[in-house]
Amino acid sequence: MNNSFSTEIQNIKQLLTPDKKIVITSHHNPDGDAIGSILGLYFTLSEYGLKSDMLLPNDVPEFLAWLPDAAEIVKYSKSKNKAKELLANADIIFSLDYNGASRLEELKPEFENARAIKILIDHHPNPEKSFNHFISDTSVSSTAELIYEFAIALKGQISKNAAMCIYTGIMTDTGSFSYGCSNPRTFEIVAQLVATGIDIELAQQNVYNTFSEGRMRLLGFALASKMKVFKEHKSAYISLTREELNQFGYKAGDTEGLVNYPLSIKGINFSALFIENTNHVKVSLRSRGDFPANTISEKYFNGGGHRNAAGGKSFTSLNETEKQFEKLINNNSHLLNS
Ligand code: 5GP
Ligand code: MN
Repeated sequence: MNNSFSTEIQNIKQLLTPDKKIVITSHHNPDGDAIGSILGLYFTLSEYGLKSDMLLPNDVPEFLAWLPDAAEIVKYSKSKNKAKELLANADIIFSLDYNGASRLEELKPEFENARAIKILIDHHPNPEKSFNHFISDTSVSSTAELIYEFAIALKGQISKNAAMCIYTGIMTDTGSFSYGCSNPRTFEIVAQLVATGIDIELAQQNVYNTFSEGRMRLLGFALASKMKVFKEHKSAYISLTREELNQFGYKAGDTEGLVNYPLSIKGINFSALFIENTNHVKVSLRSRGDFPANTISEKYFNGGGHRNAAGGKSFTSLNETEKQFEKLINNNSHLLNS
């Protein structure tokens, strides 16, 4: 890690005393990196002698609920008053795996008004300036990787519980070590995590092989009937209406990973997934190589993210969103074909 990391760690270490009320937060619709990072930090602080509370805007998806102490995370969607109280009374708030308050959705005002010292630990580009401390590095595979570095700098070692959570964060953000992990450091960290005795087959099994029958059939339906491929623009998208999701007994997390499938078609470098919600369409974008999914998301879908994995929202109909996508791939054809 670089010098600013070591300096920030020392600054943060001085703040971490047992009298402080510490709250660890992550983003709306949390993924494996969000949950793995929250829990990894929670165990690390606890072993360092510090109590903390974990807080999310909404629920932990089922494929991550098996992680140790995942049930301890407070959800604003379920416990509004408790969530608001935690933010209002906090002395220190950690913001993990997101770079701005809008990713907290309904909790944004409470977060912005909180008097706490705010510490960002994240790997997204362009973090908002409002944080007091930054451990921000876009070159790492995942926020979980930064939590590992933080834990080692804080207490010199990693526990088995923290290791399982951090491993799950790295595994999910790299698609099981298939992208975003070309830095040897990722594998050095994973070696240390595995050395704690964690069961990595269990992590793989629990995250990827616990589909409901409905989720598996939804995947089949989406690929067979709902995927549109634009070979000339090296692009594809899948869109799903609420009614279609309901037909397959949809539960939160059931479309996780679906956006990646079109990228397995030879010659496809840009893929989108559109999911109809009550007041907006959730947009997920994935790309290969230099094509900037995050710039597209910022420009057309009120979102952001990484170059190859981004997301956002569209406030027009599903149909209009599809049309907008078809138009934008036409307009960006030169970039897609370069
Ligand atoms: P997903 O498609 O899995 O929901 O999100 C992929 C990535 O895009 C996330 O890791 C996050 O970095 C980013 N992302 C997703 N949704 C949003 C959003 O609404 N706003 C912003 N700024 N980034 C998002
Ligand atoms: Mn992440």
